[in-house]
Amino acid sequence: MRLYTFDEHRVGVGADDAHLVDVTSLLDSRVHPLDRMTELIARWDDLQPDVAQAAQEGRRQALEGLSLRAPQPRPRKVIAAPVNYRKHQQEMGGSDGVYTGATIKDITTYAGFVKASSSIVGPDGAIEVPFDDRRLDHEAELGVVIGRTASRVAREDALDHVFGYVPLLDITLRGAEDRSYRKSFDTFTPIGPAIVTADEVGDPGALDFHLTVNDEPRQQANTRDLIYDVPRLVEFYSEAMTLEPGDLIATGTPEGVGPIEPGDEVVLTIPAVGRLTMPVRARRPVHA
Ligand code: MN
Repeated sequence: MRLYTFDEHRVGVGADDAHLVDVTSLLDSRVHPLDRMTELIARWDDLQPDVAQAAQEGRRQALEGLSLRAPQPRPRKVIAAPVNYRKHQQEMGGSDGVYTGATIKDITTYAGFVKASSSIVGPDGAIEVPFDDRRLDHEAELGVVIGRTASRVAREDALDHVFGYVPLLDITLRGAEDRSYRKSFDTFTPIGPAIVTADEVGDPGALDFHLTVNDEPRQQANTRDLIYDVPRLVEFYSEAMTLEPGDLIATGTPEGVGPIEPGDEVVLTIPAVGRLTMPVRARRPVHA
């Protein structure tokens, strides 16, 4: 199934490629609108039959004409994998690297970082550039959505704790600051348009994906080249912290990262999961 958040943070299930059915009324009306997707995921065992039935029989609304929000607008946390593809490690350091001359290690050294949940934005928004004199990069990533609470889960059991997947951009300010600062500006975590449930995606270790900027190919990869694959990421992060329903894991970016600037259009396509299109614009000055 494909799950959406739309308009005033209503939740919907895909009926076909062009329509959804509103399933907000399946949830307790006291749930905060921003927490509806978390609630839907946490109660999935109970709600799945009704959601599936709604997808078949409910009143369809055309996606065109709806405001598609980030499908999961407020996870409790977004944990992200640093340097989790070998060729990305190579492009970041060395004599002609993004960080010229630097020695770049990989996830086995850096482990992980947290992105602020408030950095999430959906297809209805834009990537906002906060500075005009700093390099800002796109990073194409597979996003993992946690389904069942995971604490110290073995990799053999890890996928039982995964709800689904979402196209995710880890937008990154280059510089000397800590990753969690450089990657947590508002709008630096675009996701969407939908969360696709794991049963429809199949093996997360064999997903092609590619990213273009203004139709120019920039990144093309397959998740088989992850250093820590999805089961290992769930095992690894759940050793450190409890992963809760609706939490996101940004699995890391492959080679081909590059700068973006206002006026660009970034398109991330993961054929098994979806296509996320995001415009880039300058952030409005504080005192306009
Ligand atoms: Mn990243």
